[in-house]
Amino acid sequence: MKLQEFHARELLAAAGLPVPPGRVAATPGEAAEVARELISGGATGVVVKAQVLVGGRGKAGGVKLAATPEDAERVAGEILGMSIKGITVRKVLVAPASDIRHEYYLGAVLDRAAQRILVMGSAEGGVEIEQVAKEKPEAIVRVHAHPHLGLLDFQARQVALALGLTGPFLADAVAIAKGLVRVMVENDADLVEVNPLAIVHQRTTDGTEEDRLVCLDAKITLDDSALPRHPDLEARRDLDEEDPADIEAREQEINFIHLDGTIGCMVNGAGLAMTTMDLVKRAGGEPANFLDIGGGARADTVAAAMKLILADPRVEAILVNIFGGITRGDEVARGLVEARSRQSRDVPMVVRIVGTNATEAQTILREASFRTADSLEEAAAQAVAVTRATRDGAGAAPGARAVGTGAASMAEGAGR
Ligand code: GDP
Ligand code: MN
Repeated sequence: MKLQEFHARELLAAAGLPVPPGRVAATPGEAAEVARELISGGATGVVVKAQVLVGGRGKAGGVKLAATPEDAERVAGEILGMSIKGITVRKVLVAPASDIRHEYYLGAVLDRAAQRILVMGSAEGGVEIEQVAKEKPEAIVRVHAHPHLGLLDFQARQVALALGLTGPFLADAVAIAKGLVRVMVENDADLVEVNPLAIVHQRTTDGTEEDRLVCLDAKITLDDSALPRHPDLEARRDLDEEDPADIEAREQEINFIHLDGTIGCMVNGAGLAMTTMDLVKRAGGEPANFLDIGGGARADTVAAAMKLILADPRVEAILVNIFGGITRGDEVARGLVEARSRQSRDVPMVVRIVGTNATEAQTILREASFRTADSLEEAAAQAVAVTRATRDGAGAAPGARAVGTGAASMAEGAGR
């Protein structure tokens, strides 16, 4: 799960890192109000930043400076409602404008292969780090944190010195680098990134001027599997930016992952779901999803799963594979009958149910004229055959089939 910048900033600030203040606004009027407060508190102006879960907001016109509250109101009006990489901006962060002297990159990321947290830094900040990595890999310093003790002092100094942060900035850079790793561990994050970490020129009210190192942007990605340990972070989930199917699946406690194929799969048990996908592939098809309805699923879960699968317009057939243990076959069969009666479009379905109450399940399915299969191989082969028949039946040329207007089918057409 990705956190919005303003939430990520809160976590960094809570860990004692230097983050400028700021507040979120959902309307131009609110933005003006926040700007008024910040400017009367001594800020020379404000920066208005789109809060969307994608990078490159600056380049897209989603980060703008404003000198007065009226300016902030106008700029917020431009940014709110704009679309950045397909996402509509609904909120902006209003923060004091910084007088930037240099931009650095500093980030911590989980290096799964090394089983360590990798700290990366670069004096070429502000731009996308992937670009620096590609064009100038030597401009990035990489250090693995200690697996139990975090980033050690000498390691943090190594990073800071490689960025050219010496003198008064060294101690701050060390504290920030160590802090990023701490934030990562404490929140079970797999990415904590500050880009830019900037040297900012500041003028205090008593007239003194100084340059300080400040986190001007923050990006945090959390490990979804660890979220149950962090209800406070889960509460910061931005539902506006999530796929409605993912929200529905989470609410129903269905383990669902959307894929690119045409055969929707409904299975109980993660291992069986993987096996089912493998067999669909072996039979020459492509699974449209991974879906585990869990143990002991009842009729309403089955209906919810069906709705999830059918929400994908590319699905041409559904393969149901249930191994009844705690889950009762007849319960699933009843769920299927009910789901089909409510289903929005007619998609062929092949059902294989074995185990607990399989005989009762067969009776229910037969009465409702469902297509059934005894073995998984047979079920997979039938599902694939059905999608082929649908395509041939439509009389369409390859690549111009009736269902499936996705990139995959277009590429298929272009190749012939
Ligand atoms: P991103 O493009 O989504 O990564 O958004 P950032 O928060 O990193 O902002 C993009 C760029 O806007 C930064 O690299 C800065 O150059 C610039 N920027 C952000 N905040 C300020 C600010 O307070 N003052 C000035 N002058 N520029 C800023
Ligand atoms: Mn940035």
